[in-house]
Amino acid sequence: MKTTGDQQLVKRINRSVLLRLLRAHPGLSRARLAGESGLTKSTVSLLVRELIDEGWLTETGLTAASGLGRPSTPLQIDARTRGLIGVEIAVEALRVVTVSLLGQVLWTVEEPLDSTQPPAVCRQSAALVARAYAEMAAQGRQLSGVGIGLPGAFDDATGVVRFAPNLGWRNVDFLPQITQALTLAGLPDVPVHVQNEADTAALSEYEFSEDEAQNSLIFVTCGTGVGAGIVLNDRLFTGMQGMAGEIGHSILQVDGPLCSCGRRGCAETFIGARALARMVDTRRGGYYLGVLLQNLWTTFNPGSLVVGGSSCERYPGIVTIAQDTLQAYAASAGMEAPTVRAARHGLLASAVGAAALVLHQYLRPMHPRAHPLAT
Ligand SMILES: [Zn+2]
Repeated sequence: MKTTGDQQLVKRINRSVLLRLLRAHPGLSRARLAGESGLTKSTVSLLVRELIDEGWLTETGLTAASGLGRPSTPLQIDARTRGLIGVEIAVEALRVVTVSLLGQVLWTVEEPLDSTQPPAVCRQSAALVARAYAEMAAQGRQLSGVGIGLPGAFDDATGVVRFAPNLGWRNVDFLPQITQALTLAGLPDVPVHVQNEADTAALSEYEFSEDEAQNSLIFVTCGTGVGAGIVLNDRLFTGMQGMAGEIGHSILQVDGPLCSCGRRGCAETFIGARALARMVDTRRGGYYLGVLLQNLWTTFNPGSLVVGGSSCERYPGIVTIAQDTLQAYAASAGMEAPTVRAARHGLLASAVGAAALVLHQYLRPMHPRAHPLAT
């Protein structure tokens, strides 16, 4: 790598350090930022100037006397200048949101999916994103990137959707197709990121949290399918081909009911939307969800467990029963169960999280996708 490349990477890392410090501790001054980050005061001043000019940071306008010397100016993430667009491609609908850098939802739109053919999905998504962008531009906001969540396994290394059974996709070259559709729809040249919808849902809870001490979270989504978005050690964990978290096809009963995937006894045959709709008493579904949570907890020991998806909106009781079930398992082992909470953004979790994906990548410049190796 050339020296200039190294310097650019170091600068990106330093900028992300400052942004993350201010997200966790709004109001820090330049001097405090230097102290917390270990960077020199002159480097901090230079980078802060740039970040303010580019609309990432803002001065609060208040000045705080810091004993001797010049008064210091508190800094914070700028929630007014930039915006992110998130898209969820669901089996039944398209949802598009715009959010601020602090995760405030500014605008939303939803329409039924016209067709599941990839070119049509790209065109329809791009048209909605163009509307979101027009709204954002009308408010004088600058677009920082577009994120997309979809119900399939996305291979980060190649930009290919390996498998999306509910859309009928296999090995779809999605990233180039959607990028081209966005350009044709008049979007400026901004980063475009794609991920599985359960993964983006996890980021809707993780990326806009001020709790920096917590570096792991699992989001379980219960809809037609059942999946988990997993954040481990401060990063999305997606597995070799984007298939991590397919917990709907973990086996809950040996030789159980036949699943759409061909196996028997998968979690989805007990708590998938179709199974819940057939149940006389959905409490049974809540019990199985609790078993899944218990297995996730003992496998990953995450800082937070969040449950969402359309089934949780339709049968809110299953979340409570799942939590009680997890607590009972924990008590049997003489341990304290982690808290389980309902998704903060409801049915918008995946779309808001897709917007958060843009930030997740930006603030982690060492991610392989952020710096592909030269070939
Ligand atoms: Zn299955």
